[in-house]
Amino acid sequence: MLKGSCACGSVRYEIAGPLIGPVTYCHCWRCRKHSGSSFGTTAGVRAADFRIVAGEERLASWESSPGTRRYFAACCGSPIYKRNERTPDQFGFRLGTLDDDPHMRGALHFQTGSKAPWLEIADDLPCEGGGPPFGSRD
Ligand SMILES: [Zn+2]
Ligand SMILES: [Zn+2]
Repeated sequence: MLKGSCACGSVRYEIAGPLIGPVTYCHCWRCRKHSGSSFGTTAGVRAADFRIVAGEERLASWESSPGTRRYFAACCGSPIYKRNERTPDQFGFRLGTLDDDPHMRGALHFQTGSKAPWLEIADDLPCEGGGPPFGSRD
């Protein structure tokens, strides 16, 4: 069981099963902007394993691409999960809101073609390129 929460603590969730790897550092503009950080750290989680245990009424969402909604805590802005209607059994999940160690480690950089220019990738993890150049939303 993994526990997590939004920044202000109003939204809390539990994950009853393992994360679905790899733990990915996603450099796409959506992950960057929605986290306010240099990239998003993501993995999958089975929808059946994911349960909001407090503050569900505070979740808001936006459609980040057709068919994909990103759910975030409207109280403080923390991104919580995303749901693609084509794969409703699995959510995309941001590791930054976890309160427990999932015992998995970052394994992949994704969409490094959109990487923030201030960021130097200084590890030896595999990089998958692609994505529009920084500053573009294509
Ligand atoms: Zn909050
Ligand atoms: Zn992304």
